[in-house]
Amino acid sequence: MFHALVSIKQVPDTTNIRIDPETNNLIRQGVPTILNPYDAHAVAAAVEWKRKLGGKVTIITMGPPSAVTSLRECVEMGADRAILISDRKFAGADTWATSYVLAEVVKAIHKEDPIDLVFFGKQAIDGDTAQVGPGVAVRLDLPVVSYAVKIHAVDLEKRTVMIERKTESRNEIIKASLPAVLTCEKEIAEIPYASLSDLVYSLRYEPELWTTEGPITFDPVQLGLKGSPTTVFKTGTPEKHKAGEVIKTAEAGVDGSVKTALDKILTVEGMASLLGVAK
Ligand SMILES: Cc1cc2nc3c(=O)[nH]c(=O)nc-3n(C[C@H](O)[C@H](O)[C@H](O)COP(=O)(O)OP(=O)(O)OC[C@H]3O[C@@H](n4cnc5c(N)ncnc54)[C@H](O)[C@@H]3O)c2cc1C
Repeated sequence: MFHALVSIKQVPDTTNIRIDPETNNLIRQGVPTILNPYDAHAVAAAVEWKRKLGGKVTIITMGPPSAVTSLRECVEMGADRAILISDRKFAGADTWATSYVLAEVVKAIHKEDPIDLVFFGKQAIDGDTAQVGPGVAVRLDLPVVSYAVKIHAVDLEKRTVMIERKTESRNEIIKASLPAVLTCEKEIAEIPYASLSDLVYSLRYEPELWTTEGPITFDPVQLGLKGSPTTVFKTGTPEKHKAGEVIKTAEAGVDGSVKTALDKILTVEGMASLLGVAK
């Protein structure tokens, strides 16, 4: 039987994102939240392969109590079990502390119910670091295939998976041993319409709650702000580039145009010495 675990994050809808200028944190109050779009496609892929091979899909998320709605959304898509990892002691986690908690949870679930594939989204659309999936894989010493666009085959007997991944210039197909970790692009699977039975099941479904009190124990030093070696020092919106200036050779001639362009370039500080010319 195939067992897929998908790690999902509930994120602010980034069309409405605002940053607190004092704390450099996201202002979450009053901002609608959604299931991270890449994670939704990862869930769809996990459910697709569960239906092909028979088995189950487990969803986990570390987040506030409101993340229950995203977990229910995954159950509506066909997931079987959902776990909310939530506790004030987890708050303020960076990717290092987040990957610690998620890795401990994956390890505990794997012990009672062995997992074949661990799915992540390519990145979360709020933090945008794309570090959590690979971070969990490294902590668990599992192979990781990032930017996955298609699962070609899962062989539960030979314990292998064939995955197509995207690179800048081409796609490549990689064979990895199971259990493996994937970070998924949206192409990995289409989001299906929910069946009536999944829809009804999801409405009544109560996700499990895991806290620092149990059912597993965490090293308190590695949690939340205390366990986070990085802090967001400064955030800002990059300056918009101004439109370039067009110098028309028909008006200034070639020599004149080159001279005008060069004069402008040389006004940039340090450019004259860089180009080895006198101003
Ligand atoms: C503006 C801003 C900048 C930040 N910069 C940094 C930084 O430079 N370094 C840093 O360490 N932290 C940073 N953070 C904190 C970051 O939001 C958290 O570490 C967060 O918990 C995970 O990182 P991410 O959102 O970048 O996830 P990513 O690594 O982009 O997420 C990849 C995938 O991991 C899974 N995932 C991520 N978070 C969770 C979760 N809580 N539960 C379950 N699955 C999850 C999902 O499948 C997701 O698609 C930043 C936050 C903000 C708001």
